[in-house]
Amino acid sequence: MTQTAPITQDVMTLPRKLPDGPINLVGLTREGLRAALIAAGTPDRQAKMRVNQIWQWLYQWGVRDFDAMTNLAKGYRAELAERFVIEIPEVVNKQVSADGTRKYLVRIAGGHEVEVVYIPETDRGTLCISSQVGCTLTCSFCHTGTQKLVRNLTAGEIIGQVMLARDDLNEWPRPGEGAGERPRLISNIVLMGMGEPLYNFDNVRDAMKIAMDGEGISLSRRRITLSTSGVVPEIARAAEEIGCLLAVSFHATTDEVRDRLVPINKRWNIATLLNALRDYPRLSNSERITFEYVMLKDVNDSDEDARRLVRLIAGIPAKINLIPFNEWPGSPYTRSDWARIERFADIIYKAGYASPIRTPRGEDIMAACGQLKSATERARKSRAQIEAETGL
Ligand code: SAH
Ligand code: SF4
Repeated sequence: MTQTAPITQDVMTLPRKLPDGPINLVGLTREGLRAALIAAGTPDRQAKMRVNQIWQWLYQWGVRDFDAMTNLAKGYRAELAERFVIEIPEVVNKQVSADGTRKYLVRIAGGHEVEVVYIPETDRGTLCISSQVGCTLTCSFCHTGTQKLVRNLTAGEIIGQVMLARDDLNEWPRPGEGAGERPRLISNIVLMGMGEPLYNFDNVRDAMKIAMDGEGISLSRRRITLSTSGVVPEIARAAEEIGCLLAVSFHATTDEVRDRLVPINKRWNIATLLNALRDYPRLSNSERITFEYVMLKDVNDSDEDARRLVRLIAGIPAKINLIPFNEWPGSPYTRSDWARIERFADIIYKAGYASPIRTPRGEDIMAACGQLKSATERARKSRAQIEAETGL
């Protein structure tokens, strides 16, 4: 592959063989569900009401058995059951950390696995979900980046991660109850698990539309954060078509260092990325962008880096989230010393930006940021494969 090959090409041309079979209703948009019902014989004039009813069973009450959908006629329920299935990914292993963090190993069609992490905090509960099996990108500090990309997740597999966590936390309102009648255990979603969400744009968008729909899971778009390594051409689209909060894996203050840490920088460098970010708050009508910055000892953690960071982001409403590096077996970096991280945070804070240091959660079960990698997908990418996948 040549240097100029488009970076997205390989994701789209990867074989995406999913088992054939009845249509899964989970993951269809409202329009998609309507079309599926009509194709299965639901009269046009009834379709809107049937969509509303089925939607509410699926996403407000978490019901997956057609027979329990008691406001549909018995015969109609039987017809639905013949034509459709309601399926979410299967949890094959669950680990609970000493700090309450839960990590689910989840199996999707084809036998592949992804990880989902639930992080309870005093004022919120955050679910960290995955968008791809593995990742085509190869950030040198990220465990997922060493894993071959197997495929993009479908919208059903993405929203299915939220649904299975709600199952495990016993969070669904009982049929008949409204969305607000129970305390929310999952109050926030972050697309910070495995994969680059903007390389699976349509499925991520459709899944997040389902999460935000007021007749279902009903999470505000301000409680959903999409993290990208910097896929510049898709950033404006994310603002317009999803409208959630944005986090960006910034991690360096010179192109020379960012090229090494986040190789997509060779394609869209810091200046190009910052230009795209400047427009995001206006386009999405949201406030601040989160700049994620992993603290790597002697690599990107000097006072000079902190000062350069502040200069670079001037004019962008921002918060800087400092992430102490989470080590994984064989990782090529070490975590910056605590005093260094605090000093770095202080420089940024004094320049007028919030600079929280992210407390590593679930370290004892390898659930912390960037440690996710499913046990069955251990194959390491070869250099030739990395070049072929990324065009870098
Ligand atoms: N692919 C997306 C979402 C991924 S992960 C992205 O790159 O933004 C969420 C955050 O964890 C990213 O900022 C990522 O760079 C960071 N991360 C990855 N590996 C890490 C590690 N070992 N320690 C700390 N943070 C890490
Ligand atoms: Fe992929 Fe994000 Fe990891 Fe980079 S940090 S390899 S983009 S998952």
